[in-house]
Amino acid sequence: MPIKLLPSEVASQIAAGEVIERPASVVKELIENALDAQAHIIAITSENAGRRLIEVADDGTGIPAEEISMAVERHATSKLSKAEDLFHIQTLGFRGEALASIGSVARMTLTSCTAGAKTGARLRVEGGRVSPPETYGGAVGTVVRVEDLFFNVPARLKFLKHETTERRLIDTLVTRYALAYPFVRFQLRQESQLSLQTSGKGDRREVLAALYGAETARQMLEVQFLDQEITINGFISPTALTRSNRREMVFFVNGRPVQDTALSAALLKGYHTYLMVGRYPVALLFLEIPAESVDVNVHPTKAEVRFRNPDAIFSGVQHAVRRALLAYNPVQGWETDPGSFTYSQPGGSSAISASAISRGKIQQYPPEPSSTTFEGTLLSSQARPHGPTTAKPAILRWVGQIANTYLAAEGPDGLYLIDQHAAHERVLFERYLRQRSQGIPSQALLQPAVVELPPHSARALEEQLGALNDLGFTVEAFGPASTHTFLVRSIPVLLAGGDPSQALLCLVGDFEEDETPLQSQQEARLIARICKRMAIKGGQTLSPEEQKTLLSDLESCQSPRTCPHGRPTMIHLSVDLLERQFGRKGAR
Ligand code: ADP
Ligand code: MG
Repeated sequence: MPIKLLPSEVASQIAAGEVIERPASVVKELIENALDAQAHIIAITSENAGRRLIEVADDGTGIPAEEISMAVERHATSKLSKAEDLFHIQTLGFRGEALASIGSVARMTLTSCTAGAKTGARLRVEGGRVSPPETYGGAVGTVVRVEDLFFNVPARLKFLKHETTERRLIDTLVTRYALAYPFVRFQLRQESQLSLQTSGKGDRREVLAALYGAETARQMLEVQFLDQEITINGFISPTALTRSNRREMVFFVNGRPVQDTALSAALLKGYHTYLMVGRYPVALLFLEIPAESVDVNVHPTKAEVRFRNPDAIFSGVQHAVRRALLAYNPVQGWETDPGSFTYSQPGGSSAISASAISRGKIQQYPPEPSSTTFEGTLLSSQARPHGPTTAKPAILRWVGQIANTYLAAEGPDGLYLIDQHAAHERVLFERYLRQRSQGIPSQALLQPAVVELPPHSARALEEQLGALNDLGFTVEAFGPASTHTFLVRSIPVLLAGGDPSQALLCLVGDFEEDETPLQSQQEARLIARICKRMAIKGGQTLSPEEQKTLLSDLESCQSPRTCPHGRPTMIHLSVDLLERQFGRKGAR
């Protein structure tokens, strides 16, 4: 065949294929036009899952009668005039393609009236053929009626899914916009039934309930995050509420739904160590970024964007998520932040009110002996130093030990399974850090321990000697350097009872497992390593007393949910989850 230009109708249909894939795409484009026109009310109607009819009516600014024919032309837009405008787009539309595309694959009637105009106009487009506009009186705003979608592209119809699926896609889409624009009143009718109605009063939880049901909406955690580069609002699911796929990880960037694998990855990173493998959170995050920092002109459906400063955006998302998760205390009295450690602050315990104590909610621990006079053992709650954590409520009720590795406990909302090793690591780590601020009490060994190391390890240890002596150890080289032998004269009190040569050896092991967020902090890293080595192991039988002590020590931690290396110390099975698993409650 010779080369020739395509007839404009064919070219239009090809272009339309990129933008209008299914009924929900029509709904999306029309909603975005209404939002761009500053509508306060948007009413959407669909019949036969959008194939027979999609109608979107808004109370926005309207299209001037003399421009209505122009509105349905390809590349005709009121939102952009020069190329530079592309880099600070404030509207959802800018390509001037939607109305032209819809008109080329359906029978479209556009009715619009602007404020102050005596009459409005009506225009019909059928399979790309535009009829002359007619004068038409009506309320201010725009109504776009799209009938018989794909009537002239039967091949497209074959790609549509079952009506229930197409209806659900429309439902989900409209609900997400309703969430993104809580100050706009949305109404959706499908097959003559009201399927969504929002008040437009700005209450996002209300819309959330429509999307996920009241119970899930209640559980969702609120995200609020602000820094120079980015503002993030929205909701994420608590760790107990997950899905088996990523479909409900939803992002809006400057009011526009966006699919972006890096944003999803950042979200998941925020949940790091909180989710089981293969489980995904539910999240709706609304990001606001300066228009010039994001390129929205990447794809015809405008579903992809490019960030000018992606790292700042992703770390913002990650932090926003992490912070929301940590601010959420399923267990009363826990302030958790696995990423940081806090030195104790005097007087913190007074925060717990006397009335709470008298109501029996809070159990006060007996006054503690001074840390310099007692002889601690590894698993002694007596070893807990003074600090705000000494008057925490007992939250976990001990149930027992499983496989000599996990502790089972009942908490305020269900069952907790605790990894005894990770938990003890956390307990030791925080104790160590607290003592660090006051000078670590050290205990002289009756018999100095002699430790002989292989040459490369000896070198590594020599480099650490100074730091070690700061951490409550007294270690010195022993005998000629060629023997690579060291003498441990004292160890920190809190490690008393443990094997001193073990404590020393762990300092010269490899660092490969060490992914603590405190990596820059050499000392915290060292401490984490010592604690890992000194903590009780999995597979070790603990007496009921030791188990209870470990639980209460863990409760007293600032960040009880993760070990110093960021792995979880516990798994929470909520009552809600148990009820679902036992079929007492409908599974969702
Ligand atoms: P774009 O939104 O990219 O500009 P469209 O094809 O969706 O392109 O719309 C073309 C133009 O028609 C818009 O720029 C706008 O001026 C006008 N328009 C479309 N829908 C509406 C509406 N609901 N209210 C007011 N004006 C509208
Ligand atoms: Mg548009």
